[in-house]
Order: sequence, then C-alpha cells, then structure tokens
Amino acid sequence: MFQDIEPLQFSNDFAWADPEPFDRVLIYRGSSVVVANTDDGVLRFPSYQALLEAGVVGSAVVAASAAKLSQSHSMSQSSSQPQSASAPSQRFSSQPQGISAQPQRTSSLPKRMDGKHLQALFLFTVGNTAYFRCEINDEKLDELLQGPLELVPVGKLRDRSPKHRVFAGMVGYEYHQFYDTHRFCGRCGMPLVHDLVERMVRCPECGCMEFSRLFPAVIVGIVDRATDKVLVSRYAGRPFKNYALIAGFCEMGETVEQTVHREVREEVGLRVANVRYYKSQPWPPSSSLLFGFFCDLDGDAQLRVDYHELEEAEWIDRADLPVDEDYSLTREMMDVLRRGEETLFPVL
Ligand SMILES: [Zn+2]
Repeated sequence: MFQDIEPLQFSNDFAWADPEPFDRVLIYRGSSVVVANTDDGVLRFPSYQALLEAGVVGSAVVAASAAKLSQSHSMSQSSSQPQSASAPSQRFSSQPQGISAQPQRTSSLPKRMDGKHLQALFLFTVGNTAYFRCEINDEKLDELLQGPLELVPVGKLRDRSPKHRVFAGMVGYEYHQFYDTHRFCGRCGMPLVHDLVERMVRCPECGCMEFSRLFPAVIVGIVDRATDKVLVSRYAGRPFKNYALIAGFCEMGETVEQTVHREVREEVGLRVANVRYYKSQPWPPSSSLLFGFFCDLDGDAQLRVDYHELEEAEWIDRADLPVDEDYSLTREMMDVLRRGEETLFPVL
C-alpha cells in the first residue's frame, strides 16, 4: 500500500529542529507541491540549501551551517544524498528551553510559542531524510518556479517514483493542510501559535488547543456467501470511475465497527454479519485514517442504493474484480477478495 516504504522507516516524533542545508523542503500551494522539474519521472524535492541560494529563506544559523557545506550539493535529491552528521533520532530530540517572548499577532506565518517565526517547520523523517514544511510568499514562489522547480498536484505524485518520496509528499500535504487551516483560533479569532512540546497549535489568548486532525473512515468488502459474489460500487460526483467498495466516515458517538453497519445500511440497504478487521491505511488527500473490514451479507441481497452517495452498486463475481497497480487499501482488499482469502481474518 501507499505507506509501505520498507526498508525505510517513517518517523514523525515531534521535535524542534532547524533545517540543515541538505534537508528537504515541502512547499505547497493549493493542492500542489513544489518539486524539481525533471522529465525522468523521478520525484525530487528541493533542498533547504536551494531556498537559501535563491534567497527565499535565511537565518544566521542556517546560513552558517550552509557555509560549512561543500558547494557541490545539488539542488535536488540524488542517490548519494549527503547524510546528517548525527542520526535523525539524535538531531530531532531536543526541545527549546523556556518561552522568551510573547507571540506577536501581526503575521499569518505560524510561530512558536517563544515568538519565533516558523519559516521551516520540521515534519518527519523518511529513512535518513528530514522533511520540513516551508511557507513562502507568492512572489518568492514565482521566482522559484521560473527556475528548475515546478508545481505538481499532490494527486499526481503517485505517477512518480520512488515510492518513499511519494509518501513524503502526500503525508507532508496532510500536515500542510492542518497548519494551513489552523492559523486562527476558532473560538476567539486570535492567531494560533505552535506548542513547544507536541504537535499542536494553541491560542495564547483563550487557551484553545488544536491537535493534528484525522477523519476515521471505513472501507467494507461484502461477500454474499450464498452466491459467492462480492459487492462493488461506483461513487457519484467523483472523477474516479473505477469500482470501489462501500466506504464512509465515522460519525461522532460510534465505533468503527458500528460505522460498518451504518454505512452499509445507508448506502445499499443491506444488513451484514461476521465483520472481520483487515488493515488500516492513512490517506492524506482527505486526512483520513481508513479501516478495512470484510463481512458477510446477512439476509436479503436486494440492493437499495442511495443515489446521492453512489452512482451504482452491484454484485459481481470475484474474478471480475479489477486488477491494477495502486497503492490503496481498497485495491489490496479487492486482491484479497479475488483470492477468496477474506475468511483468513478473524471475526470480531
Ligand atoms: Zn482563542
């Protein structure tokens, strides 16, 4: 699946760190991300040094650090990417001490609670590569895009390789969406600041706290044991026209298991039993955490389709399930269904 990037490890332990010149920066505009302009399909994110050289960002600390580096480091990621002198787990373990100043309230850029602007916010590491979110203004972005960089829709990253950078670009977008939509307090309207010890923004005025945001949802593969057919659907009003499984977001007050029963009932009017948990998958485009379940039809197989949600739904033979290369939980679950292996997972 999309998150399977072994042998590399994803680490999102929260920490404060200044970017090193060879760290990668993720710059988003709308639903697109800035990448190196290449025609070989290889995904490369710009280095922090590239932003320094372009005069887009700068600080005494980073400039000094940059000066110590060889000028031979390329703008883009390569297979021989320079490694940090210390392991990521060491680099990103320290936290700033104390709060030295009151946050100012004049800029839209996020700030730390000690009042420092966050030009580059550490997000996570993938293997030995650290990724920072950078926020730059439109004028600077236009300058960058006139050089060897381009904007690529996040939804198109999956066409590129390597997979671990696709993962970084998509997960970075999820973080970006959180910070981009949490600049001001929803209660009193004051600018939010970043907490010092965990990934959370808070209001310095009223104390309101906003944690990183996820929307849990279920994907449901349903089998009619009497006919050995599986239920597939197509979603209404979406460009993605291939077969899907029943899916829906969890509502307040219910468990994910209860969501399975409700969504199946609402979307196709069926009852199900023998619910089996399969796997979960983060899905950054919608900030979802997807929970995959298999279950059996319980009773009448007659479909009563909710055409507000679905374009169509139908029972098909396992062999007719689509086969394609995809990173999604839905596609992996369809593979399990095609092989008839869904009963390998225990009933909850
Ligand atoms: Zn507030």
